[in-house]
Amino acid sequence: MTAPSTKLDAPLLGEPYLLTPGPLTTSAKVKQAMLRDWGSWDGEFRALTAEMRSSLLELTGDTKGELDCVPMQGSGSFSVEAMLGTFIPRDGKVLVLSNGAYGLRIAQTLVYLNREHTVINKGDYMPARADEVTAAIKADPAITHVVVVHCETSSGILNPVKEISDAVYAAGRKLLVDSMSAFGAVPLDINDVRYEAMVSSANKCIEGVPGFGFIIARKDELEAAKGRSHSLSLDVHAQWAHMNKTGQWRFTPPTHVMVAFIEALRAHKAEGGVAGRGARYTKNRDTVVEGMRELGFETLLKNRWLSPIIVTFFCPAHPAFDFDTFYDLLKSKGFIIYPGKLTVVDSFRIGCIGQMDEHVMRKVVAAAKEVLSEMGVDTAVPPKIALIERAKLAD
Ligand SMILES: *Cc1c(COP(=O)(O)O)cnc(C)c1O
Repeated sequence: MTAPSTKLDAPLLGEPYLLTPGPLTTSAKVKQAMLRDWGSWDGEFRALTAEMRSSLLELTGDTKGELDCVPMQGSGSFSVEAMLGTFIPRDGKVLVLSNGAYGLRIAQTLVYLNREHTVINKGDYMPARADEVTAAIKADPAITHVVVVHCETSSGILNPVKEISDAVYAAGRKLLVDSMSAFGAVPLDINDVRYEAMVSSANKCIEGVPGFGFIIARKDELEAAKGRSHSLSLDVHAQWAHMNKTGQWRFTPPTHVMVAFIEALRAHKAEGGVAGRGARYTKNRDTVVEGMRELGFETLLKNRWLSPIIVTFFCPAHPAFDFDTFYDLLKSKGFIIYPGKLTVVDSFRIGCIGQMDEHVMRKVVAAAKEVLSEMGVDTAVPPKIALIERAKLAD
């Protein structure tokens, strides 16, 4: 088992590192915070809920008090569904920008919600650009809202949300953002990138454990959303109004998860907020990408599109390479990686988020090198078609 690194509040000895985009490796402090039971209406717990909401709002750059934060029980997808059902009027029409599994899930959610929508489907990773958004809106004036995924975790691409936001508001439409896997590590400053609402969850870049998500939205949009939701439990307006009135969640909150999240938020602040967290993840990514490239591995994306969240690597072309064996051997060395989601070429992903630093990432590369040698793979160079794929991306 690989020994945990020194500087970070490392995971408990003997646990494998989760190189996955949430659930991820959390600190001992975050885990320890869950060893106490809390009454959900108790004043102390209500104070923690208030602290959480204001700490999250601090990360948005909202100095005018235009935004509010509404936590929502469930995994991240529950919050995405809550956001879509609450902020898109029943007679609205949505343009979904999809370049991976999470974009497609948004479109699928809109089917359930009975909201009219159209999809720019760019396939496995190609990003939709501003000119395509502008053209789509021009071609279909019924479009009222655009939804974009900030970091599309299925490939790891960082979508160009700023240019998309500018295009959406230049056309007089509204933007909703799934910033699930980016918020807290990649800047999403409201003064720079306008949006009506965005969503993220406890178990991504803030480094909490899974159990709830949160919606950050303009207060005027929240006001306007009263009575609109299709769902009792996923009604963001109702949760917001109740929380503002009573300080409590409407229905049973995940108390242990939230108290752990408070610990994670305090650590996030101590690390230097979005900038500090983003710097560590960027270093993690650079270390793993550089090391893996030395072994012959290639990334799916050109450098400019790589996020500091998760990186997709092509599987080697070598006939002795087998993903399941690679996975199992890496796990036996203390690292859990993530299978890929590309349809054209075999791939796998390595997450850069969680309680890990560059020292851990160096150990990941060393472990990958050992595993390749144990498998009898002398080079990790991918098949030619992989590089043809990559060439389709803009520089
Ligand atoms: C993690 C994630 C979600 C939510 O997934 P859940 O499994 O429901 O937590 C949504 N969008 C993106 C981009 C994500 O990375």
